[in-house]
This record gives sequence, C-alpha cells and structure tokens, in this order.
Amino acid sequence: MKIASVIVDVAAKQTDRTFDYLIPEKWADVLQKGMRVIVPFGPRKVQGFVVGLKEHSEFKKLKPIVELLDPYPVLTEELLQLGHWLTEKTLCYAISAFQAMLPAAMKATYDKEVRLLYPEDMSLLHEDVQQYFKQEDAVLLSGVHQDHLSSFYRDIQKGYLEVIYIVKNRARKKTVKGIKPLYAAVQLQQLAEQMPKQAEKQKNVLAFFLKHPGEIALKELCEQLNVTQAPVKALVNKGVLGETNIEVYRQPYDEEAFGKTSAFPLTEEQEQAITPILQTIEEAKHDVFLMYGVTGSGKTEVYLQSIDQVLKEGKEAIVLVPEISLTPQMVKRFKGRFGSKVAVLHSGLSSGEKYDEWRKIQRKEVSVVVGARSAVFAPFQNLGIIIIDEEHETSYKQEETPRYHARDVAIYRGKHHECPVVLGSATPTLESFARAKKGVYKLLTLRKRMNDSALPAVDIVDMREELRGGNRSMFSTLLFEKMQDRLEKGEQIVLLLNKRGHSSFVMCRDCGYVHTCPHCEISLTYHRYNHLLKCHYCGYEQPAAVTCPECNSEHIRYFGTGTQKVEEELTKLLPEASVIRMDVDTTSRKGAHERLLDQFAEQKAQILLGTQMIAKGLDFPNVTLVGVLSADTMLHLPDFRSSEKTFQLLTQVSGRAGRHHLPGEVVIQTYTPEHYSIQLAGQHDFDAFYQQEMMARKMHQYPPFYYVALVTVSHEELTKVVAVTDKIAQFLRQKLSNNTVVLGPVASPIAKVKDRYRYQCMIKYKLEPELIPSLKFILDRYQREMQQQQLSITVDLQPYSMM
Ligand code: ADP
Ligand code: ZN
Ligand code: ZN
Repeated sequence: MKIASVIVDVAAKQTDRTFDYLIPEKWADVLQKGMRVIVPFGPRKVQGFVVGLKEHSEFKKLKPIVELLDPYPVLTEELLQLGHWLTEKTLCYAISAFQAMLPAAMKATYDKEVRLLYPEDMSLLHEDVQQYFKQEDAVLLSGVHQDHLSSFYRDIQKGYLEVIYIVKNRARKKTVKGIKPLYAAVQLQQLAEQMPKQAEKQKNVLAFFLKHPGEIALKELCEQLNVTQAPVKALVNKGVLGETNIEVYRQPYDEEAFGKTSAFPLTEEQEQAITPILQTIEEAKHDVFLMYGVTGSGKTEVYLQSIDQVLKEGKEAIVLVPEISLTPQMVKRFKGRFGSKVAVLHSGLSSGEKYDEWRKIQRKEVSVVVGARSAVFAPFQNLGIIIIDEEHETSYKQEETPRYHARDVAIYRGKHHECPVVLGSATPTLESFARAKKGVYKLLTLRKRMNDSALPAVDIVDMREELRGGNRSMFSTLLFEKMQDRLEKGEQIVLLLNKRGHSSFVMCRDCGYVHTCPHCEISLTYHRYNHLLKCHYCGYEQPAAVTCPECNSEHIRYFGTGTQKVEEELTKLLPEASVIRMDVDTTSRKGAHERLLDQFAEQKAQILLGTQMIAKGLDFPNVTLVGVLSADTMLHLPDFRSSEKTFQLLTQVSGRAGRHHLPGEVVIQTYTPEHYSIQLAGQHDFDAFYQQEMMARKMHQYPPFYYVALVTVSHEELTKVVAVTDKIAQFLRQKLSNNTVVLGPVASPIAKVKDRYRYQCMIKYKLEPELIPSLKFILDRYQREMQQQQLSITVDLQPYSMM
C-alpha cells in the first residue's frame, strides 16, 4: 500500500476526519493499521493513528509520514472500531477516543526546538539568546528561562532562528545495564589462562561467563560474584565483554509477597450462580449477568473460578474494580490465585509503571487484568470474560471526554468477543436491576453471607432528638456508649463521615453571612490545620476571618464537620483511644492509603475515621462497630440519584462490620430518619428500596424509565451563557418529539466555577432518533465560538454527575 489514512492529534471539529499521507518506501511492508506515526500538519509535526491503508488518494501532493512510533499496532482492529463507536455514543472526536484507550504515556507531548539559521554569525543574536547556543545548535523552547523568552521570539521574528515542532514520545521502556561476552567459550578460556595472577577478579568474571554464556544485568553479576564493577569495566575496556541494555519492567508489586491460594469448594448458591456463567464460557456465547449478592456472599470467589475456566480455555479476562477498592487486599486475591498472569492497572501507578503493565498485556505475557475504569480497553485479542465488580459505582463513568461508561464498553467488547459480561453488586443500579428483571440481563442471586454470618444489626438514631435532649456533641448517646464498650473489649471501630456535598463551611450566626469563593459559586471549606478557608474547586484560599465581614460580629461558627474536627473531639472524649484518620489530606502522598490501612489491620489503632474512601472493600475481622456520623449529607444534593447513592453508601459501610466470627453492629445517625433510603438500608432491604425508588423514578420520568442527557454551557459572561443555553433549549424543543422533555435553561447546581458561569439544559427521552443529530448540529453551530471565545458546551449522554 502506498497511502495511509491518519487521524491526527488535533482535537477539533475541522480535523475530526482522516488525512492521507504517503508511506515512505522503507515502511511499505511494515506499516499497519493501528500504529502511531508522526506526520507533518501545517507548520507542525503531530502524532497520529493509522486507521486505513490504500493505493490511491483523491488528494494530490501528499506529504510523507515522518516517523513510525510503534513496531506493531497499538490499537487492534477491534479497538479501532470501538473508537469509532465511542465517537457516536459520546459525541467525542476520534482522536480523543483513541487516546482514552491507551496508557497516558503513549500520548504525545509537543515541544518547539529552536535552531540557528546562521551558526557562523552568532553576533546577530540577542545576548540572552547567544548563551544558549554556546555549546549546542538546537535548544528546546520549554527549557528556556522565562526572562529570556521575549528575546527568543524577537530573534525568531527577525529570521535568525528557526522553529521546529517536535513530538516527544514519552513511552520510555526502562532498561538496565547488561553485560555479555564478546567471545566464544574457547577463546574466553584462553584469555583467562593468559591473565596475570593479580587479575584474579577478572578471571572470576570470565569463569562466570564460561558457565553462563548469555547476557546478565551488571548489578546482578557483581552481586553474584561479590565484586565491584571495576573488574567488569576492565574487561569491557579490553573488548572482551560488551555492554548492553536489558529491558526490564518496573515492578510495582512484590510478586513474592502473594501467597498462593486455591479454589474453595463452592456453596450451593455459588454453584447455582456460576453454572450459567461457565456454560456461556464453554459455548463461547455473549450474555450479560447481573450477580446480585449481599456483601460477603462470595461473589469474588465466583469471579475467580469463572476466570480460571476462561484461562483453561486459553482465553483472557478483564476485571474492573472501583479505584478505591483496588487495595492491596484486592490485588492479593487475584495475584494469589493466578500469580504472574495478572497485570494490575490503577491510578496509583506511575505513568511508566502503567505503560509497563499495558505492554505485558499487549505482548500476551499476562492473561488477566485487574484495574479501574480504563482497564476495560485492555488490548486482549481473545477475551473470555469481562467482570465489573461493584457495578453501581459512579467512577465507572468517565466525567471528561470521552464521557463513556465502562459497562457499555464492556458489553460492546463482550459482543465482539462472544463472551460473558458479569456485573456484580450488593446494591445494583436501578438501571441494571430493571434490565435483569426484564430478562435483558440474566439475574444471579446470592442471598446468604459466607458462614451464614448475619448481616449486622442497625440502629438508626434521630439526631434531632439528641439535640432536644441536650446532647450537642457529634456522637449520639447510643453510638458513644457502644464505642466505649468496644474500646473496653479491645475490638475495632470504623467511623464514616460522609462529606460529599457539604463540607465544613463558615457562617456568621448573627447575620447568616457565609464565606463563598469569589470565583466559584460554592462555600469555602475551613482548614483547621493552617487556619485557612479554601475553595475545593479552584484552589482559592484566604485566612479564616475572626469577625464577620458583613456585620463585624464575632460569632463566627464552623458548620458541618470535617474529619479533623471529629478527630479532635474523639481525643477529647476518649483520650485512651488511638485513631487513624483517612481523608484527602492524610492520603495524598503515594502509598499513604495503604500504609494507614495496614496499620489499622495490624490493630495499631482502634478507630478508623474517614470519608467515603473507607466504605468499600475493606475486610477487617476485628471490626464490630460501624458508626455513620451523618447519613443525610448526600440525600439533599440536587441529583435524581441522591436516594440511590445514599442507600448504596449506607449498605456498603454496614457491610464492613462483623464479616467474620465476631458479630457486628451499625449505628446510623441522621436528621431525616424517616427517609426510605435510610430506613431500608437499615433493614438491608434492597428489594423494597428498588420498588420504592422505581416508583419515584417513574413518577418524575427519570432513568430507567427515561434516558437523560445533559447539556452544560459555560462562559465568563452570564448574559452570554443564558442566551446560548436558551437558544439550545429552544432549538431542541423544536427538533425533538413531543414525548421528549427539555428542561431549562437553568443555572447548574454549581453555578460558577473559576469565574465561569454555568447553565444547563436537561433532556429526558425514551426513543429519540433526532437527539444525536440535533446535538451534533448544536456543537457544529457553536464550533467557532467555542474555539475563539472560550465558550464551552459539553454534552453528557447518561450523566452521573448532575452538578
Ligand atoms: P463478596 O465478594 O461477595 O463480598 P467474598 O468473595 O469476598 O464475598 O467472600 C467473603 C469471604 O468468604 C472471603 O473471605 C472468601 O475468601 C470466603 N469465601 C468465599 N467463597 C467461599 C467458599 N465457597 N467457601 C469458603 N469460604 C469462601
Ligand atoms: Zn455577620
Ligand atoms: Zn473557587
């Protein structure tokens, strides 16, 4: 083939199509679809993906491809198709879809290189510039000091310097220095014999290579022979040994730390659940299963044994788990069963480590991948199963372009590979459960916990009563008594502070003034540690006020409760208790999350206090009490899923108690004890919650009865935002059918972020063939303003965040 069709790395409407390039003769045989290339594009060079090969182009005067970045396709035929599907399903550009499927390290970054045009006449240049070219004739613009940039631009404009756009490939393989013999054994033997007596260490090195003729890492060689690098270097200098680079993988996990585990004999319930899965594996058939099983009912064991069958068939498996449950405990369960066949992909890895794990998949060195959302794009070519654990987790929806849901991608791939997709949860989404009830998904149910351990008893405490009774502390009498009891018994306690939504805002008790961010429409959060008020959206901060800026009153009160404040109160009330606090502040450093959990597991502290991040996946045998400090903070968010999310969180956190031999108890503190999501979570009654919530959804026309799409418009000028959103809403009302509801324009729940106003328009529809074309039309129509006037319009089909 002579011509390649390329999608270039310029995310814009005009460039969202293929461009044709000539394939240089030397690559005619090697270039394939799915490879990354570097191509000239205007004055620049950019990265691109080859999506097609052909003999002829309708365009004349094609430019040739500059460079080939991969020796083999990084996107398989299937992933290329999936990319196109994503552009349709999420209204994104093809380049964004392709990039989302690959590790970030493979995304190109660009730099400008500046070169001398008249190297013989340096005096033309500004003094600032001259110093850069004393030793080199090319300089990266990114490496030029701020103060010297204007001199560079002056000389570029005068034509003394030339600018070359370069593409940096960040996907570096890690190598270590290796050593290998340059002679055959016979000659090495002779050389060793000729060496003087003093050169004993060099002789040892040669003797080693007589026994092990291959290459070896320099470090390992020195360790094995217990010598310094000097004798090796000496032999290299003599030309006896040669230096090499050995490619190694960065090892984020210590493989030996995972003890081997073997399959449990399944319980009857597990047996019933796994049988239809195994059958689809055997028949190589696609089906979607919803495995609905209470926490601790043995879902993971069913996953493990299904995967085992897939591996026996010589196929591969993808397991998705939410980012926050991707704990070492979780990894251990998979590595313990399948050893080095498992690759792990999560955000805690460096971009180099992620790239290495990805390459193991690509080179077929592993056959199971356990990872967060984007692992659904793992480049396996012979998939036998895709599992999504905790399928209700909102983190499976990507909240930036491409706005895809991992479940949809999994089902797409499952169809392509003719393999089952298993969704597991103790609290499935209403969407999935409704599909299972209709028979679209196959429902598998695990009702019993392992060892028949009972679900913990739940007490719901009305905090309004507590206040009336004179208890102004953040702990109800009941919770406090139970905490004292556990501390005495030497058992452990988990306390959840549900902070999403409200955080500790600051209010004047006299006039009601609340400190808000001047750039974003949200209240500032008080940070006790450095006495600052911070905006959690834009990072704005100011010192905490002592008096009210409105009325000068000194009655400033810190509302809502941060984990720090709870910790302080704990140390006051229960000075003997040791507390581990887990929140964004204490877990921001790499590895901190795991370290804190390890400490708690080793019982170095009796109380684990934290935000949502402690609610999931943790399994500590000695935890017998879980306290939820305020259950309602999420209930009042402007989001039609707020009841569902509250129910899920309460159910999850309750599942942390009494997972083993000791029975567990849960205390839920709330200001709205009558709300059904709190009541029914307390009774562990998902089915009743499902019934009730479905009625509410039906009445208000929300999913799963209707689909929802959200258009959000933002701009610095309020009038502009309102005008554009209004036009969009009018246009949609006119284009879409009468059964479709177009709501808005209204200000978004967070009406201003980083000095930009935000308005939205919500569309509720059932069957609406005109929706996608209409939304595309809108994006086209505003294309220029989006580029030139910083107008932003985002379309989210199936939004999970309504803010
Ligand atoms: P889930 O994923 O539903 O929360 P798990 O798979 O983690 O449940 O199972 C809970 C506990 O029971 C785990 O410690 C697991 O090792 C154990 N377990 C699972 N299946 C069996 C079985 N068939 N026999 C004995 N123990 C089991
Ligand atoms: Zn005031
Ligand atoms: Zn802000």
